[in-house]
Amino acid sequence: MEINNTPDISGDGEQFDKNVKLIIIGSGPAGLSAALYAARADLKPVVLTGMELGGQVSLTFTVDNYPGFPEGVGGSELVEKFKQQAEHFGAIVNFDSAVEVDLSQYPFFIRTYQGEYLAQAIVVATGASARHLDIPGEKKFTGRGVSYCATCDGWFFKEKDVVVVGGGDSALEESLFLTRFAKSVTIIHRRDELRAGTFLRNRAAANPKIHFIMNSIVSDILGEDAVKSVKLKNVETGEIRDHPTDGVFVFIGHTPNTQLFEGQLDMDDRKYIKVDPLLHTNVPGVFVAGEAADPHFRQVITSAGMGAAAAMQAIHFLQDRVENS
Ligand code: NAP
Repeated sequence: MEINNTPDISGDGEQFDKNVKLIIIGSGPAGLSAALYAARADLKPVVLTGMELGGQVSLTFTVDNYPGFPEGVGGSELVEKFKQQAEHFGAIVNFDSAVEVDLSQYPFFIRTYQGEYLAQAIVVATGASARHLDIPGEKKFTGRGVSYCATCDGWFFKEKDVVVVGGGDSALEESLFLTRFAKSVTIIHRRDELRAGTFLRNRAAANPKIHFIMNSIVSDILGEDAVKSVKLKNVETGEIRDHPTDGVFVFIGHTPNTQLFEGQLDMDDRKYIKVDPLLHTNVPGVFVAGEAADPHFRQVITSAGMGAAAAMQAIHFLQDRVENS
């Protein structure tokens, strides 16, 4: 296939080859770690950042559990360090998104907002996005009281009352963060037992600003210009009541960002890409790292580890092709 003449998007004024050895789609811990390893193998990998450099972790206020940072590190600061380290060894990080891939041809074809590429190998590191409740009022009030990011929006709720929906680690961690700003944080969980681990459960229970409403679901988000209340249904008694609130933060898990690969890469019923233990997909030369293939761990360190491993597999794949050609 002929590659279109595309504008320079390297940012340094030089045209660079769109026939690349390795494209990494996504710039979270998985993508940037893959870039570091591939760059050190002199593959000159191109990273397509997607809409947000760093993905979800860049929206995290503090990362406390990434080794090497005993005092914790800001999510966006960590991402910037990942990027600098990968670039130091020759990775090309482009603020661009893949909009179409064709894995049926080789080299693989990737169309982005700014151009087209042919790649001999791909690491998919597109991550996951926050799940929505899909209830009335949610869409209408998104950005006007409904949020999926405490780090981004917590500040707007200074001395306000907010609710957090969800009972997992994210819900509790983000609730603790919201207590920096909000007057009160009420966690609404659909069961009588939290899913979150003991450490966060204990910290949340000890925080005087945090309250719990268990066995309840939010069925409606109400207000005029801004959120005024949520409609709660007790799943045990069936009781329905209004609960006044200024904000609704939703942390009920994630869905993988894998739509681009539907019909081309094998996926499970939740649309996570299927990989073998060596992170190979059903298409030789296409590897996956991070939350696009991982519904279980979802940690910066596990995604970074998968990124390194996927890059090592891509290096082997490309080496084998050279040796067998
Ligand atoms: P999660 O563990 O899947 O928890 C999602 C929570 O949302 C669950 O409590 C679930 O209820 C609830 N939920 C799901 N759908 C719902 C709906 N439609 N309506 C109401 N509630 C709903 O997701 P997560 O908290 O984002 O965590 C994901 C992974 O990341 C986990 O492995 C977690 O350990 C990890 N994580 C770790 C940390 C940390 O170590 N500091 C921080 C954040 C996340 P049920 O419990 O009833 O299913």
